[in-house]
Amino acid sequence: MHSRPLIVLLSILLFTPVLSGCIGDEILDDVIPQLKGIPGGLTMACLTDSHDKMVLEIDYEAGYKPETSSTDLLKQRISEVCSFSKGISFEFTETDFADVGTWSADDVREQGWANKQADPTSGKTLRWQLIFPAESNDDDNVLGVAVDASTIAIFGESVDDAAGFLNRPSAEEVENSVIVHEAGHLLGLVNLVYTSPVDHEASDKPGHSNNEDSVMYWAIESVTVANFISGDLPNEFDQDDKDDLAGLAAGTIEVSNQI
Ligand SMILES: [Zn+2]
Repeated sequence: MHSRPLIVLLSILLFTPVLSGCIGDEILDDVIPQLKGIPGGLTMACLTDSHDKMVLEIDYEAGYKPETSSTDLLKQRISEVCSFSKGISFEFTETDFADVGTWSADDVREQGWANKQADPTSGKTLRWQLIFPAESNDDDNVLGVAVDASTIAIFGESVDDAAGFLNRPSAEEVENSVIVHEAGHLLGLVNLVYTSPVDHEASDKPGHSNNEDSVMYWAIESVTVANFISGDLPNEFDQDDKDDLAGLAAGTIEVSNQI
């Protein structure tokens, strides 16, 4: 996603119609395209008490179910910045995605929406979907993408390839970090739906942190991750990231593009 001009991508995302299983809805959706939003478009639904329950929908192809350590960490990191009085739960579904070859952002969007179990918001429930296809992104350097307000893909083959020399970092550690990184984009990090009062966005990698100790560091979602990071991979938001989210939650940082 981030190899393309963000502004162009956002324009496309804003006006992509929804796939729907119901004929009546299909007609309606053709007339009034439902906004799928941009990454960060459901940030406030997470950060504020507008929703009291979160469901993380994990749709994976056979053999590509994420590690328990990754999903546990994801839940932990989200619970550190968002609060849901009725908790955060998972729905795991083994899924046969269409055979699209290598995956573009559009493929992720289409296959994501074709397989969503429910709308991203319904009543007071917020749902984010993470899909784990068997194939790679059409840029095989890309480990993960966030394509709209509720949809993420993580590419397991590329995650495995990104493991470092002597398995440091291991594929599991890479997956741990990538899953939190992509969720960070759904939280609007960095500067996706707001402008931080602190200059911590990487100048040549829009939407990413310039701090290699943040999970939002730009190299985290790239196969080069093993080359850029020495020692432990970051798998949590840094103080600037957390301050941005706290400012958004408190209303001291202005937010845009919410759906
Ligand atoms: Zn990223």
